[in-house]
Amino acid sequence: MSVRALSVVPGKPETAAVTEHADPSLDEGALLVQGLLVGVCGTDIEIIQDGYGWVPPGQDRLVLGHESLGQVLEAPAGSGFAAGDLVAGIVRRPDPEPCEPCAAGQWDFCRNGKYTERGIKERNGYAATQWRVEPEFAVKLDRRLGDCGVLMEPTSVVSKAWEQSEMIAARAPFERKVALITGAGPIGLLAALLGVQRGYEVHVLDRTDAGPKPSIVHDLGATFHTGAITDIGVQPDIVIECTGYGPLAFDLTSVVAKDAVVCLAGISGGSREVPTSLNVINKQMVLENIVLFGSVNAARRHYEQAAAALAKADIGWLARLVSRKVALSDFATALTRTDDDVKVAIDLRN
Ligand code: BGC
Repeated sequence: MSVRALSVVPGKPETAAVTEHADPSLDEGALLVQGLLVGVCGTDIEIIQDGYGWVPPGQDRLVLGHESLGQVLEAPAGSGFAAGDLVAGIVRRPDPEPCEPCAAGQWDFCRNGKYTERGIKERNGYAATQWRVEPEFAVKLDRRLGDCGVLMEPTSVVSKAWEQSEMIAARAPFERKVALITGAGPIGLLAALLGVQRGYEVHVLDRTDAGPKPSIVHDLGATFHTGAITDIGVQPDIVIECTGYGPLAFDLTSVVAKDAVVCLAGISGGSREVPTSLNVINKQMVLENIVLFGSVNAARRHYEQAAAALAKADIGWLARLVSRKVALSDFATALTRTDDDVKVAIDLRN
């Protein structure tokens, strides 16, 4: 037993523990990787506390971790990887049938729900001191990124959100200039980065101006807002909604520009019912050609887009997003967020 990993019985927080495991099996992939960091997100908390997540068949615990960063220890010749490469593992695997999108490498659009996800659904994750991955499900990162490479997976999710938003926006022939990102968590800040890189005037709205987020937004060249959505004073052409707060998604339809595209990229655990005037929203969306759509997960090309976006970002700025690194043995402290946290990562090296 040489590998240590963070595992849990989903929905039983008291079972979350660092557990000992045998060396990763070759069945999991030809690349042997030393785990460096694994990012913690709302999905991990939901798995631990609320029982989202599924253990691998025949096992009783799930190794967590889908936001991976590792360094290749062994790679077969011709795999495109070499020892020392910085890599992130892709989260989703196509369903075995496969459905049409999975057969086309677009497992992020899986239609029958039989896909699997490392660290989330029926496959052990990357929160381990060593892991294996198939070369076709690994993506190389610019070595200069160092620990900022742990931002790869959330960046892949927002790369897809941006790509899909622009594909949909292309239905109306005019240049989109103003983007609004709601929520200044890691997903929101990375969505803002991609918006700035794409040349948009970017606005970021968050419910609080406590902590480092306003200055992180400002230093990106974007504008930070707090308070009511109706007071932002701009009419965005594209919105990437990252809070997962349902009522906000619908309120957005009344502030956006005509022909706007609103991408819902966040999920929140809450199930509280909220009153909304669906007839008003319906009318507004029809009369103004508004598109409201959801986006989850990412295909390989979105990881590649993310790797390119991170490689051209300012490393000092990215480093401010990885606000706290916690030793594997202290994982419990990574599960509670403070105002100063942006992305908290578990350090698999100590
Ligand atoms: C991950 C996605 C995954 C989704 C649903 C998110 O936290 O980033 O890759 O598809 O959870 O399981």
